[in-house]
Amino acid sequence: MNDFSDFATQTEGVDKPMVRFRHVSKRYGALTVLDDLNLDIAEGEKVSIIGPSGSGKTTVLRTLMTLETINSGVIYVDGKPLTHMAKGGKLIGADERYLCKMRTNIGMCFQHFNLFPHMTALQNCMEGPVHALRVPKAEARDRAEELLALVGMIEKKDQHPSRLSGGQQQRVAIARALAMRPKVMLFDEVTSALDPEVIGEVTNVIRKLVSEFKLTIIMVTHQMGFARDISDRVCFFFGGKIEEQGPPAQLFGNPQRERTQKFLSAVKDAD
Ligand code: ADP
Ligand code: MG
Repeated sequence: MNDFSDFATQTEGVDKPMVRFRHVSKRYGALTVLDDLNLDIAEGEKVSIIGPSGSGKTTVLRTLMTLETINSGVIYVDGKPLTHMAKGGKLIGADERYLCKMRTNIGMCFQHFNLFPHMTALQNCMEGPVHALRVPKAEARDRAEELLALVGMIEKKDQHPSRLSGGQQQRVAIARALAMRPKVMLFDEVTSALDPEVIGEVTNVIRKLVSEFKLTIIMVTHQMGFARDISDRVCFFFGGKIEEQGPPAQLFGNPQRERTQKFLSAVKDAD
């Protein structure tokens, strides 16, 4: 039996990150996908995760969304354990009720937008607040309209997803995630499935979020220029670990590790 009492004390004190991975490992059978990962992200910090395919980037986000369980370590969100709950001074595995509560802190947008097909853009943005958070309908509608305006989709609020382009659907998906008032927003290659000419309308929405909101953002992306523009910090993943990290100017301009240099020159060649 693991004794997590040491982990519990680490969340106390002035240094309270919004997201904290402590010695997190995730395995699928013999394959180690996250390898003793340590990562702290401050409140309001914008962090981009880059790295080769299979290096564990999506898994980091999925464990934060509690879509995957972890094999060891602890993840904390806003000072509270996410994967575990405190009981009698110790941490034990979180139960479903606790996970449901903690999950509302986190919003996620995926490569494939997965809007509810039978609901309009507006209904998509009201569904979570009304049913999961029990927000009164009128208030949820006001908030949804405000967010649809923010992402430039207010004129299409009564359309169903099938009537919207990929870029428009992704913008509604961002509004839908924000409607839950998450403390942390996760973006996983949100422009990868889009036609090139609509990528800008989605990245511009994310740029706006970055400049106007004090949200904590973790973004997995293949768009190095975009990562450079919006991030406070870029983490280069390799083999389920952070191989190298730093401010964008440093990581892109003067990478120290050979693997980072190789990866960056390969993606540059592909452009
Ligand atoms: P990335 O997003 O960096 O491309 P992922 O985090 O999606 O990488 O995946 C990391 C590794 O874990 C990959 O080798 C992938 O094949 C493997 N993996 C992901 N999900 C599963 C699963 N459900 N079962 C088995 N292996 C998986
Ligand atoms: Mg991925």
